[in-house]
Amino acid sequence: MSTLYVKELQTAIRAVHLASLATKRLLPSKDKGSQPKADRSPVTIADYASQALLIAAVHHDFPEDHILGEESAAELRKNQTLCDQVWHLISTTLDQSVDTGASLYGELKDKDDMFRYIDMGGDELGGVKGRVWMLDPVDGTAAFLSGGQYAVCLALVEDGEQKVGVVGCPNAPFDVAQVKETVVDSDGYGSLLSAVKGHGTFVWKMGVERLGPPRKIFHKQPTAIRIVQPSNSAYDFGGRRKVADKLGAEWPGTMLWSSQTRFVALALGEGNAQIAFRKRRDYHSCVWDAAGGVLIFEEAGGRVTDVEGKPLDFRQGRRLEKNSGIVAALSGIHDRVLSVVREVDREPINDGV
Ligand SMILES: [Mg+2]
Repeated sequence: MSTLYVKELQTAIRAVHLASLATKRLLPSKDKGSQPKADRSPVTIADYASQALLIAAVHHDFPEDHILGEESAAELRKNQTLCDQVWHLISTTLDQSVDTGASLYGELKDKDDMFRYIDMGGDELGGVKGRVWMLDPVDGTAAFLSGGQYAVCLALVEDGEQKVGVVGCPNAPFDVAQVKETVVDSDGYGSLLSAVKGHGTFVWKMGVERLGPPRKIFHKQPTAIRIVQPSNSAYDFGGRRKVADKLGAEWPGTMLWSSQTRFVALALGEGNAQIAFRKRRDYHSCVWDAAGGVLIFEEAGGRVTDVEGKPLDFRQGRRLEKNSGIVAALSGIHDRVLSVVREVDREPINDGV
């Protein structure tokens, strides 16, 4: 019998809701404090504030658990202006959130607490047995900066298996059956998706105070294949086009920058298959690019593997060291999609789009 994870789910939903509100609060600001990281991807005030809020909330309720997050506070400690901006966003978010915010006042009293919580996630190496919360405070920061779709992600992984996944999509409208970069919930607070292993996927409308009633989502097997794919140029577009042609799918389908948003898009029925194989086969995604979003799609009727058909292995540290690429599709078509991907993957890369 599967466990319900009631408290874990409640904590994760409240944490992601609060962190999502923080990111949304920053969206209208011209200055989002964007800085390039060592890998040249951007980090903003929202990424740091969201990570501090997510970790404080999880640590408050589950002090014994490991927590692994994308960001570290090293650069933030050196930049006083950015540090003040992040702290301001955290403080105003706590002040304006009556329920979850109030319970975190004792956890986030000052900037030292903020640094400590951010680094708690940044220092965690993962790869441990037992319970590890994995989080991406803003997945798709580049899309966040341009007003597109991004995600606030939190997952509980136990002995390598995703048990709870919650993903906030503050720019994805709840009432519109579409997930596209340009279809943005500019007046509202977007959607939140949650899943517990064995208990299905639900979507909720995020409000400033609370969430609306949840709606269960599950997809039967499709007749036509509709593709969701990354717009990131690190992936092999040419190969994917061949796969789409062989499957008789429309090209290019829906393109989304944020990796976690692509799983959400599949869960919401924007498409039913995602293929993402890299130009560099030795590249391995980070665990926070997938943890939680994968469970949300699986519980909505999907199956997710790498390009070799192996399940994603979250026990290998901060990266999915044993996996390359993603093949995600509704379970009834996954074998068919995977066999075409493997056929194309054996061919040399030709990136003509
Ligand atoms: Mg991120």
